[in-house]
Amino acid sequence: MPKNILVVEDESAIREFVTINLKRAGYAVFEASSGEEALNIYDINKGDFVIALLDIMLPGIDGFNVCRRLREKSKTIGIIMLTARTQELDKVGGLMIGADDYVTKPFSPSELVARIDALCRRLAIDTETAPVSEELKSGPFILNVRTRSLVKNGKQIELTQVEYQIMRYFLENPGTALSRSDVMNHVWGQDYFGELKIVDVNVRRLRMKIEDEPSNPAYIQTVWGYGYKWDAKQE
Ligand code: CA
Repeated sequence: MPKNILVVEDESAIREFVTINLKRAGYAVFEASSGEEALNIYDINKGDFVIALLDIMLPGIDGFNVCRRLREKSKTIGIIMLTARTQELDKVGGLMIGADDYVTKPFSPSELVARIDALCRRLAIDTETAPVSEELKSGPFILNVRTRSLVKNGKQIELTQVEYQIMRYFLENPGTALSRSDVMNHVWGQDYFGELKIVDVNVRRLRMKIEDEPSNPAYIQTVWGYGYKWDAKQE
């Protein structure tokens, strides 16, 4: 069975270009030219999508809103944002709720397909890997690697796939300085050829979810010029 991909792009030339290339790569493509249409198609197909590709600037509700609504519907769908410029993401970094990756326009078909293949592989590996131990604990946090749920002081925190994988990587390596490329290779795979910035975007989002003060993080500490370190707070 080919995997279903939802492509949301209002510019028909780009949408067709993407669709042709994804079909050629073996995916089943569902096209939408607006966010409303995308959510409708998602519901009609009962959420049977592996990945959604979302343009940001859309008529009606924008790509970020579509992203948030899809994420409310599914924790497991892979979401890739199509951005005109990287700055578009910087401006709205805090709003980047739930996306797993982004691709900057203009992109080559091979780059786009590689990103999608990589995300699909990650999503598949993630559900197949048998955990060594069921729970990873640190300070007020308990990450259950079987149910993939994160609890802080008894309160559940919702994580996307990527956030979960980053969190797990931190908890498996407490007190260790991890470079941004370590995180990227571990979470996105060796063959990923995106920018390191995606690591920062996801760490920023993870901090907003798990830190008491995201602007003054106590758990995910920045190692300047290198990467990040999980600081285990024993309480
Ligand atoms: Ca657009």
